[in-house]
Amino acid sequence: MIDWWKSSELTFVPQTHTMQLAELTWPAVQALHKDTPVVFPIAALEQHGHHLPLFTDSMLLGEIVRRASTVVGDRVLFAPLTWLGNSDHHLDFPGTLSAPPRAYLDLLNGLLENFVQHGFRRLVFINGHGGNDVPGKQAIFEVRQRHRQRNDLLLLFATYWNLADSSRLTEFGLCQREMSHACEWETSMILRIAPQLVRDFQGVEPVEPGTGFAPAARGWITKERTAAGHLGYPHEASAEKGEALLREFSDGLTVLLRRVIAWDGKGWNG
Ligand SMILES: [Zn+2]
Repeated sequence: MIDWWKSSELTFVPQTHTMQLAELTWPAVQALHKDTPVVFPIAALEQHGHHLPLFTDSMLLGEIVRRASTVVGDRVLFAPLTWLGNSDHHLDFPGTLSAPPRAYLDLLNGLLENFVQHGFRRLVFINGHGGNDVPGKQAIFEVRQRHRQRNDLLLLFATYWNLADSSRLTEFGLCQREMSHACEWETSMILRIAPQLVRDFQGVEPVEPGTGFAPAARGWITKERTAAGHLGYPHEASAEKGEALLREFSDGLTVLLRRVIAWDGKGWNG
């Protein structure tokens, strides 16, 4: 589903030594040890301002998962990336595709339940879109409650930009301290993996990302925070920053997946 840009020289790495669910037969899946971690990458197709493609979140998560899979991919089963996400807040911008939020919650529940039924015990959502945060965490909560008699399930949800070592991020010359939207960080990473899809980012006026409405949570739609569609400082982007970010995020994902592989079946504190 997401292979069309992988043919570029920059990102092409053969997937043959990694366990890709899409490439296996059902007997091969059945034969896997059921402690094999299963990763479900979840992202989005939504507006990313005037300068980035709609598929930005899916492309970036696909690249980060691909890089991590080259390290741990013989011990982790990777489901194909689910590119349809919860993007209702972007629907004022043409091109955005969004699953209705409750349907999306059911979909995520279903993906986990499918693999619980197949006998697997270590199920991990790796997320690449802010709007998936609430439904993703709610899905693992609901599945855990539904199987509360089990004591051998490890259900995890992680968003890739939270997997980085934040002390190292300060070394990369970034202006933004955290992820925003179609911002310095995302623009930099797309410049690294698909520069031909980036429009004039240097002429984009910065939009202050805001504070996230703390200490309250506000129901919001994107157009009331940004008319152009982006938040943050895309004009500060560079492919070099993008490579540093991609490396840091994929390293963070690799560390997490190694922990999942090494899980002792009991606690989850390190
Ligand atoms: Zn994005």
